[in-house]
Amino acid sequence: MSVLPFITVALFGAVLGSFFNVLIYRVPRGMSIVRPRSSCPYCNSAIAWYDNIPILSYILLAGRCRSCKKFISPRYLVVEIVTSFALCFAFFRNGLSPQFFVESLFFSLLILVTFTDLETFLIPDLYSIGGIFLGLALSGFNPQVTWKEALVGVLIGAGVLLAIACGYGKIRGHEGMGGGDIKLLGMIGAFTGWKGVIIALFVSALSGLAAGLIVMAVKRQGLKTAIPYGPFLALGGLVAYLWQKEIIHAYLTLGSW
Ligand SMILES: [Zn+2]
Repeated sequence: MSVLPFITVALFGAVLGSFFNVLIYRVPRGMSIVRPRSSCPYCNSAIAWYDNIPILSYILLAGRCRSCKKFISPRYLVVEIVTSFALCFAFFRNGLSPQFFVESLFFSLLILVTFTDLETFLIPDLYSIGGIFLGLALSGFNPQVTWKEALVGVLIGAGVLLAIACGYGKIRGHEGMGGGDIKLLGMIGAFTGWKGVIIALFVSALSGLAAGLIVMAVKRQGLKTAIPYGPFLALGGLVAYLWQKEIIHAYLTLGSW
């Protein structure tokens, strides 16, 4: 493969990531995603086009607003870099094909969910329910699943977590896992099938537990520290999407000892 298409995809990914930053801030707040123009969250001064260049502007301004000099969240830089990398990765795996667009869509949904949930403890229906419909509609171009596997994935994904949430609510007396997590696992099922759902659940539980223990050790606050679960489900969804066959193969090989 030549370099020019990769540079094109990387630049497009950075611009898309810049748009995702707008979505991450505005969608959970119910704001319009086209108006008003981007402004500093602290001093409200409008951001000029030359200060709104993906990745580059953040580095040149050292992460500060040009007017008030307050620090802008590094999330803006991280999302632009991660989105650019995700699209390059999908392009490397698929070339310019329908599969490239489906894979980029799934990675994009995981990025949007992760960073929105980290900041607001919300997973907007736009990404979860919207993703379920898109995942089902585009399953014909998804090399990971057939449309039947995608449909069963949605039902198992949403169903399993609903059962856990009901059981957890009965034991602890309050809602442990949010409705957003349930719809998110349904979305992951639409792109990875029911086997992917099970892998995503295991990976999210293990990584979530590890992160929870680390946070508890650092903050010394016990179990009350709230951590959003969406980013761990998203990580599980990514692992399930990329290595589903390998994980199942390894599991069956271990089982036959
Ligand atoms: Zn400012």
